[in-house]
Amino acid sequence: MATLYEDAVAQIKKAYPYVTLTDGTKKIIEVPKEMLFANLAVKRDDNSTEVLPAWRVHHSNALGPCKGGIRFHPDVCEEEVKSLGLWMTFKCAVMGLPYGGGKGGVKFDPKKYSQREMEAVSRAYVRAMADFVGPDKDVPAPDVYTNSTIMAWMLDEYNTIKRGSFPAFITGKPEGAGGSKGRGVATALGGFYVFQDAVKALGLGEKLTVAVQGFGNAGMHMAKYLHEAGHTIIAVSDSHGGIYNKDGLNIPKLMDIKKQDKPVKDSREKTITNEELLTLQCDVLVPAALENQITVKNAANIKAKLVLELANGPTTLEADEMLNKKGVTVIPDILANAGGVTVSYFEWVQNRMGYYWSEQEVFEKLKVKMAESFSQVHQAGKQHKISMRTAAYVVALERLKAAIESK
Ligand code: NAD
Repeated sequence: MATLYEDAVAQIKKAYPYVTLTDGTKKIIEVPKEMLFANLAVKRDDNSTEVLPAWRVHHSNALGPCKGGIRFHPDVCEEEVKSLGLWMTFKCAVMGLPYGGGKGGVKFDPKKYSQREMEAVSRAYVRAMADFVGPDKDVPAPDVYTNSTIMAWMLDEYNTIKRGSFPAFITGKPEGAGGSKGRGVATALGGFYVFQDAVKALGLGEKLTVAVQGFGNAGMHMAKYLHEAGHTIIAVSDSHGGIYNKDGLNIPKLMDIKKQDKPVKDSREKTITNEELLTLQCDVLVPAALENQITVKNAANIKAKLVLELANGPTTLEADEMLNKKGVTVIPDILANAGGVTVSYFEWVQNRMGYYWSEQEVFEKLKVKMAESFSQVHQAGKQHKISMRTAAYVVALERLKAAIESK
C-alpha cells in the first residue's frame, strides 16, 4: 500500500500532463527541501520527564518563506508532517500567496497534559526549532490541537531567544499579541465562500442537507455559517463519535456544549459513528477532522453530491478516483480550507507593516481571494476536463514552475 506521502506525490503527477515542467522542477517538488527532528524533554507535573518526538519540515520555499501549522497529536509522524508540508506548498501556490510550504508536529496526547505542561511542550518546541523558523524563513500557525494561546507562548519564547519583538514569526496569535481579526473563523469562512461559489456553479439549489465530520475550529464554524445561511446540518461528530437528526441539529446549542469541552453526543441526539456519518444521505459532506477518512472502504457508499474538504487529506487517492467516477464533485483541501492560511498571510502582512485592519476589511479581502482562486480552479477544470482537485494542482504548478524555472 502506498504511503500518505507517496499518495500526495501521485496526486501532483496527475496534473503533469497539463503543465510543461522541466525534469528538474519535478525532482524539486516531489521531495521535501529539508527537515529538522528533535526530541523534546518535558517535565510533567509529577516531576517525571517525557521525551516527545517533534518535527518541522520545509517542503518548498520557491514562492516565499515556508508556511504551515504545528500539530499536537499522538499520531504525528514524519510521514504525516512531510505530506502536510507538501500540501501547504500547493495550497499557498493555488491561493497566489507569496509563501512556500512547511509543517510541524509533536507526537503526544495533549488531552493528557495540563495547561502548564502544554506550555512547556510549546516552549520546548520553539527552543528546538528557533534557528529553522522565522518571519522570512518559516512562519508556523495553529493546526489540530494547537490554538492561539499556544501561538502566544511560542511567540514569547521566540522573542526571548531572538531578543526582540517578532510578531510576524507566527500567525494565529490572539489579537492582543498581534493576531489578525477574523483568524479564528478564517478556515471555515473561506470554506463557506468556496461552498457558495461551488453551489452556484453546480446549480445545487438553495436549501441543502449537510453532514460535518469533526466539530473543532474548522468544522464547528463551518456548521455555524451553513446553519445561519439556512442549510440543514443533519450530522456532526468529534473524536468521541457523531450525532444525527434528519430535521437538523441545533448548532448554537452544540457550540455551547463544545465550549464546555464536552463531546457532541452529550446533546442527547441520536448517536452515530464517524464511519456512518460519512455515508449518510445528504447533499454535502464536509470532512473537517483528520486525513484518510474517505477510503476505498466507504467511497462507494458516499451519497453526497458535493464533498468540501476542510480537513487536510481526508480522501485517499483511490477513493478520490471512485468519487470522480460516481460524479461526486470534490472541492479539494488545498482550495477549500485555504481561508486559514490566507488570513494567516493577512496577519503576517499586518505585523510587518504595523497597521491593523478591521474584521470587515479582513473578511472582504478573504472573500476576494477565495473567489479568485475558485474561479481559476473551476476554469482550469473546465478547460482540461479534469476534476477540481487536479485543476487546483495545475493552477498551483503553473505558479511553482514560474518561480523555480526563472532561477
Ligand atoms: P481542532 O483540533 O480544532 O478540531 C479537530 C476536530 O476533529 C475535533 O472536534 C476532534 O474531536 C475531531 N476529531 C479528532 N479525531 C477525530 C476522528 N477520528 N473522527 C472524527 N473527528 C475527530 O482542529 P481544526 O483546526 O478544526 O482542524 C481540523 C482539520 O482541518 C485538520 O485536518 C486540519 O489540518 C485542517 N485545517 C485546519 C485549519 C485551521 O485554521 N484550523 C486550516 C486548514 C486546515
